[in-house]
Amino acid sequence: MSEATVLNPVLAGLYIDGQWRSGGEQLTVINPSTEERLAIVTGGDANAVYDAVQASRQAFVAWSKTTGAARAMILRNIAAGVAAKRERLIELQCRNNGKPAFEAGIDVDDVIATFNYYAVLAEASDGQQNSAVELPSDDFTARLRREPCGVVGLIVPWNFPMVTTAWKLAPALAAGCCVVLKPSEVTPLAELELAHIIASSGLPGGVFNLVCGTGAAVGAPLSGHPGVAKISFTGSNAVGVQVMQRAAETVKGVSLELGGKSSLLVLADADLDLAVELASGGGYFNAGQMCSATSRVLVAQALLEPFLERLVAKAESIKVAGPLEEGAEMGPLVNQAQYQRVIAHIEAGKQAGARLLCGGGRPDNQPRGYFLQPAVFTQVPLDSALWREEIFGPVLCVRGFDSEAEAIALANDSQFGLVASVVSGDTANAERVADALQAGLVWINAPQVIFAQAAWGGYKQSSLGRELGPWGLQAFQEIKHVIRAV
Ligand code: NAD
Repeated sequence: MSEATVLNPVLAGLYIDGQWRSGGEQLTVINPSTEERLAIVTGGDANAVYDAVQASRQAFVAWSKTTGAARAMILRNIAAGVAAKRERLIELQCRNNGKPAFEAGIDVDDVIATFNYYAVLAEASDGQQNSAVELPSDDFTARLRREPCGVVGLIVPWNFPMVTTAWKLAPALAAGCCVVLKPSEVTPLAELELAHIIASSGLPGGVFNLVCGTGAAVGAPLSGHPGVAKISFTGSNAVGVQVMQRAAETVKGVSLELGGKSSLLVLADADLDLAVELASGGGYFNAGQMCSATSRVLVAQALLEPFLERLVAKAESIKVAGPLEEGAEMGPLVNQAQYQRVIAHIEAGKQAGARLLCGGGRPDNQPRGYFLQPAVFTQVPLDSALWREEIFGPVLCVRGFDSEAEAIALANDSQFGLVASVVSGDTANAERVADALQAGLVWINAPQVIFAQAAWGGYKQSSLGRELGPWGLQAFQEIKHVIRAV
């Protein structure tokens, strides 16, 4: 198939109460490598949200009473369905997101691992339900129940559409919740495919509902719906605040996974080649469109010059090409709006006095598509937007430091605190620095590996709550104690 192939002219974007439906609004989905239309998805509105919540509430009556073992079986069916469609899901993400195939494959494998992990937790929950609670009195007994919190709204972004969906959907279903999922209008195709897989997983109708559409037409009414117990949102800070405000009207629970401006610290005892490899991965994976991008690279002064030399060589060697092209290492940005936003940040950075060492423009061999050569900046003013704001593109800002204390202070001087990385040849040094960083996840001498067992989320304005691990499941549960006089 050529890059330009239209997948299907019109796709129904609503799956409500076990039925596919067409919506009213036509969402044009494009291929960012070619700027051509891939498909039209018909999206919903407040009425579709109302129907989906109604269906969920009805389904909740029975689904919330199922055993963890029964829910685990469905989660494993979904994981198996995703595995069976692995190639198709990779292709959809290549075309719709612009991800190179190896990156899209990592996403799909993460989704499979997440559903299988929460199947294990769902099964284990049967044995933990009604566990005895010790009280300082012989006159009473107490038991603890964890119950599903109700109908939940899941709102996800475009950068890792399948992964962010799975991190919410798998624990929500494992907990016994019913779900209304709203994908990003920019990248709904993989989630539509996922919805088809879920539709044949054995899940009763109404437990899982999908409403494609824009934030205004679908996300806002979902956030404000009084029948929704909780919203789990991943996206920008600006929208996260709006979701929280809408949710406040009906005092519903909110989990937020928002932006980042994370650091990678290269200590004086670091292996330079490893540091360059990790800086490149942390800054340019998914074309830098990562909330966890380690876009601020702090390097011990003695290593700064050779580090910059090798990082520039590495950035210039990256093959920027359409995801389906042989050897593509970095694809395009997701759409024109994001492309223009990143270019505007690069220009503003130059105006602010930052020095661009390489990249930041369109590659010569890519006349179309939202392609950008990976950029390396140095001498970036600490008060510039380039240093302080989330760029969400393949842009690294590198700065030297004189002492460990200065490096830690620079890293922590941010409104965000999602992740951080430390590169060091000395374990004790690296661990000490990791402990001092204000971030929800710190990698030492490691790429950004993610395990379903370890929490995802950060400090400060990056997150509210945590995803993955048992914390991801607890986010969809109410706690009930039953105390009885004996
Ligand atoms: P976005 O905030 O524009 O959109 C996210 C989702 O919210 C989309 O589905 C969108 O349609 C919906 N939405 C828009 N307006 C809404 C409203 N008023 N009410 C309810 N929903 C609304 O974000 P994006 O541009 O799709 O994604 C990029 C952002 O996501 C970045 O800031 C990035 O840091 C963040 N992100 C965070 C994490 C994390 O784990 N912390 C992971 C991935 C992405």
